[in-house]
Amino acid sequence: MATSFGARKPSGFVRHASRHVCCVPATETRGVARVTVALSEPAGAAGPAGARADAPAGPGKTHPAASPPARQHPELTRHTARPPRRGQPRLAYGEPMYTVADGPKVVALTIDDGPSPVYTPQILAILRRYGVTASFSMVGRNAAAFPGVAREVAAAGHMIVNHTWNHHDLGYLAAVAVQDEISRATDAIHAATGQRPGMFRAPYGVWPPAVFRYCARAGLTPLAWSVDPRDWSRPGVGAIVRGIESDTRTGSIILEHDGGGNRSQTVAALKIWLPRLLEAGYQFTTP
Ligand SMILES: [Zn+2]
Repeated sequence: MATSFGARKPSGFVRHASRHVCCVPATETRGVARVTVALSEPAGAAGPAGARADAPAGPGKTHPAASPPARQHPELTRHTARPPRRGQPRLAYGEPMYTVADGPKVVALTIDDGPSPVYTPQILAILRRYGVTASFSMVGRNAAAFPGVAREVAAAGHMIVNHTWNHHDLGYLAAVAVQDEISRATDAIHAATGQRPGMFRAPYGVWPPAVFRYCARAGLTPLAWSVDPRDWSRPGVGAIVRGIESDTRTGSIILEHDGGGNRSQTVAALKIWLPRLLEAGYQFTTP
């Protein structure tokens, strides 16, 4: 059964399960640890995974016997457990987009924390091979450091999403600092690519009210995800592949990473699961 949307913090903002620790200075890692405590899986669940009673149907190549335990936060399960609405989702204020609604077996691939001079070109080559358009959530300082890679992403026709300047946990920042994190990233991405992102993804899926207020003012659509194979934790190529294949369904927004550390597992897994989803009839859109 779908779990409740019950992880709202007393302060009113939402923390999600993504605890990717890339691009994280030591001070931020402490914040991540706190999120881990706040959103840890149910008691008795060992390690990063817990039991999931409502595993969604896979894309036709599921591995029920080999599937790892839960990979999703209850909030994400809640969102994947309901069908996406027809047409473009109309978001309530204070709610990011979790799914796309472009028709049966249409999903979106989002790739976060780059651009990286090592991994982004490898991922671009795979996407080009299969004719897939994805969304790259860029960290502003990385776009500033590797503008040529950012331009390569844009030139290939992929969507670019604002992922803050420095990948801070925005739940710890004052509203003015939140605004600075987002606007500075927009400036860096614009300087590198000539594009101003129309969407924003919060690091770690932390969505304090100040983020929604600023996104509304800046014309940015808040973008979340619904399938997280936790590639950032380097769980193994097979685990990433199984996570995506078992959790992806119509409307899924898949989360992967091209920055923040060694992403060789992400690249290797992409070569496996992407053609499989395509063979299973999935199509890729951008949010
Ligand atoms: Zn990130």
